[in-house]
Amino acid sequence: MDLPSDGAMEPPLSQETFEDLWSLLPASNIQAGMLGSDPVLLPLSGVPQDFEYPLTAVQEEGVSSTFAPVPTSAVPSTEDYPGQHALKLEFPQNGTAKSVTCTYSPDLNKLFCQSAKTCPVMIHVQSVPPGGAVVRAVAVYKKSEHVAEVVRRCPHHERSEHGDDFAPRNHLIRVEGTSQAYYSEDANGRHSACVPYEVPQVGSECTVLLLNYMCNSSCMGGMNRRPIMTIITLESKEGLLLGRRSFEVRICACPGRDRRTEEENLEKKEQKTSVKRAPVMTPLSDSTLPKKEEEIFMFKVKGRERYEMLKRINDALESQDNLQKLAMKCKKCREDIKPKKGKRLLVKDEQDSE
Ligand SMILES: [Zn+2]
Repeated sequence: MDLPSDGAMEPPLSQETFEDLWSLLPASNIQAGMLGSDPVLLPLSGVPQDFEYPLTAVQEEGVSSTFAPVPTSAVPSTEDYPGQHALKLEFPQNGTAKSVTCTYSPDLNKLFCQSAKTCPVMIHVQSVPPGGAVVRAVAVYKKSEHVAEVVRRCPHHERSEHGDDFAPRNHLIRVEGTSQAYYSEDANGRHSACVPYEVPQVGSECTVLLLNYMCNSSCMGGMNRRPIMTIITLESKEGLLLGRRSFEVRICACPGRDRRTEEENLEKKEQKTSVKRAPVMTPLSDSTLPKKEEEIFMFKVKGRERYEMLKRINDALESQDNLQKLAMKCKKCREDIKPKKGKRLLVKDEQDSE
C-alpha cells in the first residue's frame, strides 16, 4: 500500500489525535474498505491504488462541472469521470476458457487479451453527446514510476509490422472495423487512437469500439512487463472532456488462464485481509451486544485527494466505534468474572494474579 501514513492534515477528532486512531488501523483496512465491504463512502472503481494523482484542472472541476478541458499535462488522468452523459464501459462476458482471446475481469477492472486480437469495448451513454464528439483511447503505464513514459510498441514489433496502412507502426492501440479511425500524438508524444462517436444503431444500446493491442505486456524494449491502463475519453469536437473511464490491460498468450490466476490471487488476498481484520470486527457480530440498525449514507466526493482524506476520517471513526464496543464487551467480561482488583482489560492477567 502506498497510501500516505503521515498526518498531512489537522487532526479532525477531538478525543484522540487522528494519528493515534490511524495507527490503530491495520494496514489492510483501507484496502478492504475500498473493495466495498463498508460502503459508507463511495469507492472509486478502476483506479490503481499505487497511482499518484496529478492535480489537474479536470479533477478540480470534478463532477459538478458541465465541461472540463482535456488535460494537456504530461500524465493523463485515469480517474473515472462519467460526466453529464454518464459514460460507462461494458465488456463481453467471455469467461476464462483456454481458447478465449479476450476477457474482462470486473473484479480486477482488467482486460486480458492476446496481441492483435479484437477487443470489443461497449460504450454506453445516457444522453447523446453533441455532434462531432470523439472517442479516444490512450494507454498509460499504471505504476507511478513509469507513468511519465509514453506507452509504445517494442522495436521488434514496430519493425516487423505489415498490413494496416493507417495506424502508425509505433502505436500500441489500434481501432479496428472502421475507416474513420485516426491516430494522433500530443505535445508530450502520447499516442492516441480516435474515432468519431456514433450513436448506437437501431435496437442497440451501445456503441462498440473494437480495440487491438499490438504488442504483449512482456515485450522487451516496449512495455517490458510493466502493467498498463487504457483510458477511454469522450470529447466534444472542441476538445472538451465529456467523460472518462479507464481499465487495466494485460496482453498475453493465455488471457483466460491469467485472468483466473489473478482473480484467485485477489480472492486469497481478500481472505487474508478479513482474517487480519477479525480481532477488530468481532464485537460487531457479537450476539451479546444489542444490534442497532444504523443508517448508511452515500455521497459523491469531488477529487481523489478529498476522497482519501474523508475515507481516512471515516475509517478512524469506524475504528473508534469498534474499540468502544470492544471495551464494552471486556467490561462485561470483567463483571462476569468479578475480579478483586484492577481496571485493566487483560482479564487473563487478573485471573493469574488471584
Ligand atoms: Zn512487441
